[in-house]
Amino acid sequence: MQQNRLPGVPAPAPEVGKRFAAAGFELFLVGGAVRDQILGSSSDSEDIDLATDARPADILRLIEPIATATWRQGERFGTIGATVHGRELEITTYRSESYEPDSRKPVVGFGDDLRTDLSRRDFTINAMARDVVSGALVDPFGGVEDLVEKRLRTPLAPEISLDDDPLRMLRAARFAARLSLQFDRDLLESARRLARRLLIVSGERIFAELERLLLLPDPEIGLRFIWDAGVLSVALGDVPLPEYSSVASSVVAMRAEPPVDSAVRWAALCRLTGVDEVRLAASLRMSTVRRVELHRLLTTVLPDADDTPGLRRLLLDRGAGLPLRVVAVHRLVGAEPDDASAAFEDAYRRLLSEVTADRLRSPLGGGEVMELLGVAQGPIVGRALAHLEDLAVRHGPLSEDQARAALDRWNDSSSGSRPGENT
Ligand code: ATP
Ligand code: MG
Repeated sequence: MQQNRLPGVPAPAPEVGKRFAAAGFELFLVGGAVRDQILGSSSDSEDIDLATDARPADILRLIEPIATATWRQGERFGTIGATVHGRELEITTYRSESYEPDSRKPVVGFGDDLRTDLSRRDFTINAMARDVVSGALVDPFGGVEDLVEKRLRTPLAPEISLDDDPLRMLRAARFAARLSLQFDRDLLESARRLARRLLIVSGERIFAELERLLLLPDPEIGLRFIWDAGVLSVALGDVPLPEYSSVASSVVAMRAEPPVDSAVRWAALCRLTGVDEVRLAASLRMSTVRRVELHRLLTTVLPDADDTPGLRRLLLDRGAGLPLRVVAVHRLVGAEPDDASAAFEDAYRRLLSEVTADRLRSPLGGGEVMELLGVAQGPIVGRALAHLEDLAVRHGPLSEDQARAALDRWNDSSSGSRPGENT
């Protein structure tokens, strides 16, 4: 009955399914694609996840004749990737995995039945499948009902599920926030009890899940859950957090801070939790770009709105976009009175409409400076360029003529130690 209202299983899965059926194997569409079809929304990812009773060697044998590419990195875990008619497929042998108590690496056991495979998945809403040939829906744990009732539940007992894979606590936050779901009571209590299990999960994985949560337009439901359950405190490096009630309004405000800027939200999270961003970046193995971004968002000091040289210096040193993102952080955490932030933002946007960072840089290149000063390459060239920048910061952009004249004066004023010069 349900499948009548569902869209067709996306190509080329039905064609692949027929090949599997002819060889005596099952093939089901699984995971987020099924959930998103039931919700009537398009999937975030274009990948098609399929599950089968065929073992990896058989999957490969069946898919290779119609695939333009295959990849086998996941073969040990039962997954074969393939591109078929331009679509990427991941085909995974049914699992009946169990976990070592001190690791989240599943000890993979291949299984023979779909139901067991679905029972090992994170939430009932992600534990549904569709026969790729007939389109029939398989929903042994009431995923459709939970989507209708807006409930987040695990297929098996939550204390087992979260204990098996503590990362699911963060996934719970993400799905609840994304789909506006309520946490099943037992799930909430289990998360509270098992929060410390997250210590076995690698920093990269924690970062990736939290990042996905923070990229949602409104992460509030999820953040409140992990904050209250004590999960966030462990996720951020086992640090004590203030009461959620003291930050609730900031978290709610995230939804009104367009466009979604996850670095701004990470920065706000550092401020709200009191977590040191350098330690956090290291413990979550953030990329260098993210580290630098976060550090700048948290350490850039905004000048007063009427300090025009200060505004120019900021533009020169930090670029056009970053200071406005710093304002967004301040707004979220209520660090500055709102009118101070607004005045700065007005003044800075006015500056941006008048000048670019490039125009504050020296209009003369290094070669020309060397020629004008009659010097060879060396630190003096850098100092001369810095002097010209400094003049532009104080008085506004220089024309080439003004720059040449300024260099002459600078050269005359001192040929040795050059007092008064600013770097
Ligand atoms: P999205 O649309 O955000 O990609 P998704 O449901 O497809 O959501 P994925 O992380 O791509 O999420 O995972 C695909 C499927 O694999 C999930 O729907 C779920 O069935 C299963 N899964 C993923 N991670 C886990 C996990 N940690 N524990 C159990 N099942 C998981
Ligand atoms: Mg997915």
